[in-house]
Amino acid sequence: MKRSIAVVGTGRMGSALARALLAKGHRVTVWNRTKEKAEPLALLGANIAPSALEAVSAAEIIIVNVSDYAATAAILHDADVTSVLRGKLVVELTSGTPHGAREAAEWWAGHGASYLDGAIMATPDFIGTDAGTILVSGQGQAFRDNEEVFRALGGNVQHVGQDPGRANALDSALLALMWGELFGALNAIAVCQAEEIDLGELGRQWTATAPVVEGLVSDLIKRTDAGRFASDDETLSSISAHYGAFQHLVELMDARGIDRSIVGGYDAIFQRAIAAGQLQGDFAALSQFLGKAT
Ligand code: NAP
Repeated sequence: MKRSIAVVGTGRMGSALARALLAKGHRVTVWNRTKEKAEPLALLGANIAPSALEAVSAAEIIIVNVSDYAATAAILHDADVTSVLRGKLVVELTSGTPHGAREAAEWWAGHGASYLDGAIMATPDFIGTDAGTILVSGQGQAFRDNEEVFRALGGNVQHVGQDPGRANALDSALLALMWGELFGALNAIAVCQAEEIDLGELGRQWTATAPVVEGLVSDLIKRTDAGRFASDDETLSSISAHYGAFQHLVELMDARGIDRSIVGGYDAIFQRAIAAGQLQGDFAALSQFLGKAT
C-alpha cells in the first residue's frame, strides 16, 4: 500500500531516505530549512512543502531527520503543527540519546501522535539497499502497521523493543565499538608511520588478522554475558597476556614520541583490574572495571 509520507530535513541522510521512499512509489512531501537542498528531490517526484506545517499536514507518517533533537523541537514544537498531529505517526530518525528519545515519546504522545524512534546504522549510500540497517524502538504495533515503509528504507530494519530509548542506546553501544576500531586504527597508523612501514602493508595485514579480532570481540561479549571472568580451558587470552603485549606497544610509542591519549584509557582499565588481583583472569574480567549504571 502506498502511503503519504513527509520527510522533514533533507540533508545528506534525509535526502537518501526520501529517495528510497520515492523509489518504492510512496507519496513523499519534503521540507528543509534550506529549500535548495530539497529541490533535487522534486525531479524524482517529491512534493516540496513551503513550510514544515504544510509537510506535516499533507502526510500520515512524518519522518524527521535533522542534526539533533533540539533542531526537531525548533521545527515541530509549534502550536499549529501540534493542532494537525492527531492520529499521525512521527518517526524520529535523528541521532540522539536514550533519554532524549523517551522524553520525545512522551511529548508526541501528549500531542496525540504515535511515535517511533530510530537509529540509522548506515551511511546514506546504504539507505534503500538490502544492507541498510535501521534500529527502531517504541510502539511495536505502530512499527508492524507500517513495516512496508520501513522496509523501503533498508533490508535490515528491525524493531528492537518497546522502550523508545532502546534504539539510541544500541546506537551508542555500536558506535563505541566502531570508534574503538577507528581510534585503534589511528594508533596503528602512528606506529607504522614512526617505524616507516608502508600503510598499504598495514591495510593488508589488517585484512588478514581481522577475523581474529572479530572472534575476540564476539568471545568477549559472550563471556561477559555469562559472567565467565576467571581464566578457563576456553580462555583465548588472559589479561596478563594482553598486558604484556600492551607494554611492548607503550614502550615503542614512548621511544617514538607517539601520543598516549588513546592508550591511556586502556592502561587505566588494566591497572584497576591488576590492583583488584585479576591479572590472570580472562580478558572479559576487564568488563567489571568500567563502572555500572545504578
Ligand atoms: P546534514 O547533511 O548536515 O543535514 C542536517 C540537516 O539538519 C539539514 O537538513 C539541516 O537543514 C537540518 N537542521 C539542522 N539544524 C536545524 C535547525 N535548527 N532547524 C531546521 N533544520 C535544521 O546531516 P546528515 O548527515 O543528513 O545527518 C542527519 C542526521 O542523521 C543526524 O542526526 C545524523 O547523526 C544522522 N545520521 C547520519 C548518518 C550519515 O552517514 N550521514 C548516519 C547515521 C545517522 P539545512 O539544510 O537548512 O542546514
